[in-house]
Amino acid sequence: MTHARASEHHGADAVRNVVIVGGGTAGWMTAAYLTAAFGDRVGITLVESADVGTIGVGEATFSDIRHFFEFLGLAEQDWMPACNATYKLAVRFEDWREPGHHFYHPFEQLRSVKGFPLTDWWLRHPTSERFDLDCFVMASLIDAGRSPRHLDGRLLEQEFVETDGLPSTIAEYQGAQFPYAYHFEAHLLAKYLTRYATRRGVRHVVDHVLDVGLDERGWVSHVRTAEHGSLEGDLFVDCTGFRALLLNKALGEPFVSYQDTLPNDSAVALQVPMDMDKDAIRPCTTATAQDAGWIWTIPLISRIGTGYVYARDYMEPEDAERTLREFVGPAAADVPANHIRMRIGRSRRSWVNNCVAIGLSSGFVEPLESTGIFFIHYAIEQLVKHYPAADWDSSLRDLYNSAVTNVMDGVREFLVLHYRGAKRQDNQYWRDTRTRTVPDALAERLELWESKVPDAGTVHPRYHGLPPYSYNCILLGTGGIQVKPSPALDLIDEKYALAEFQSIREKARTLVGSLPTQNEYFKRMRDGR
Ligand code: FAD
Repeated sequence: MTHARASEHHGADAVRNVVIVGGGTAGWMTAAYLTAAFGDRVGITLVESADVGTIGVGEATFSDIRHFFEFLGLAEQDWMPACNATYKLAVRFEDWREPGHHFYHPFEQLRSVKGFPLTDWWLRHPTSERFDLDCFVMASLIDAGRSPRHLDGRLLEQEFVETDGLPSTIAEYQGAQFPYAYHFEAHLLAKYLTRYATRRGVRHVVDHVLDVGLDERGWVSHVRTAEHGSLEGDLFVDCTGFRALLLNKALGEPFVSYQDTLPNDSAVALQVPMDMDKDAIRPCTTATAQDAGWIWTIPLISRIGTGYVYARDYMEPEDAERTLREFVGPAAADVPANHIRMRIGRSRRSWVNNCVAIGLSSGFVEPLESTGIFFIHYAIEQLVKHYPAADWDSSLRDLYNSAVTNVMDGVREFLVLHYRGAKRQDNQYWRDTRTRTVPDALAERLELWESKVPDAGTVHPRYHGLPPYSYNCILLGTGGIQVKPSPALDLIDEKYALAEFQSIREKARTLVGSLPTQNEYFKRMRDGR
């Protein structure tokens, strides 16, 4: 092969100089991941302002996040103690159907019997009031506060694939459901990743970006800082949070709001100290429905992260803060509140010219299913996959943009389902969930789901991180939409389904008996045993 033909095959050289603006979770995850992917073949500068704080929340994750740590070559013992991290086996929804009711959306695939999902069978033959206890092993483990790992580190006995700590990505494991995600302290993770990335050569500049320079084509040529002059680069990553300094402000890319379908636009957050020796660490994020939204509870090793996500159209910030403080009780008395205005929706395109927005600058939906960090992780993987060369092939950019758009639009539909599905109708906020606009495609799906529980053929068709079983959980759990079992189940012997329900209960009983509590497990991890 001649040299000319070889270089045709190799294509243009990949760009080598990356400037990341912003040092929150998005900025540092991006810096760390790119160094893990490319080593010192790419020069990375991260600039963050000492005057503009990070958002200070974002502590519950999706189970795919384990691929992020694995990609970085980090084992749980390496990073979890440093970030006060705990395990999360599910989201626990409280009071979405009626006061006192709860159900789980666990990280556990739904079993099938004779080609029908177990939830379908459960509708036909409910063996108890709780579909989650009957259909998922995980629900019992969470009720009992269990860790998903035994004290010697073994994963609970399930049909899950461990990846031997080799670098892995979300894409390779689509369809395989790992049994847990993590909770961690956001600022500790950013600190940990700062060390990780700077040790591997990322240049860290603490300075305020005053403005963004564009060349004659309208591409970003540099960012001008207060004390470090201009920082030039080939590729700019906008991780400046809701400000979206580069993508929205400098490049003028429009923002597509989701607010008509997801009206919660505000939050107030508290960091409540807890004593691991006294308080049980629940292995789940809890989302408790309230008068104008819901309250999250995220148990960490040293504290509880909690906050009220609400709609300003229905509640004032001071009332939200009062409600949250009453919800938490005396432990919240001296804790300062962090009030946050949320921008719900996505940038029309997240990658424009030579600027890619990752994190809140790209898009955000309320954290009901902890998707913010998942969006970041997915975006970074997609950036590596569609990484640009000097010729700036626009197809790579387009492919990236459609992947990121699909994920956010898909998650939006899933979140809207929580509100449309909620049975509670006790005030105007909840009554309005019945009449509020829903995305067109979801309206069609909702009709289909009344006749047949969601499956791969009827959920949002593009990858968005949420498999059909997740939709089943929300529909059956929130209880406001009548779902019917398949008529065929009338004609099929139910004995195998009943045996499956029984086997799930037995498996759960055995695991509750043998697994440690989260407190026991993390004490051991912290002791280094
Ligand atoms: P930020 O944290 O806002 O960081 C912005 C960075 O840009 C900062 O470093 C700042 O200094 C820098 N910056 C800004 N302007 C300049 C400038 N002029 N010059 C230099 N630097 C600048 N996600 C989840 O996955 N799970 C959750 O449970 C969850 N809960 C959330 C709850 C709420 C209420 C909100 C609002 C979000 C939540 N998220 C959650 C989302 C998550 O917090 C974010 O996705 C994540 O923290 C990433 O934020 P970021 O890095 O994009 O922005």
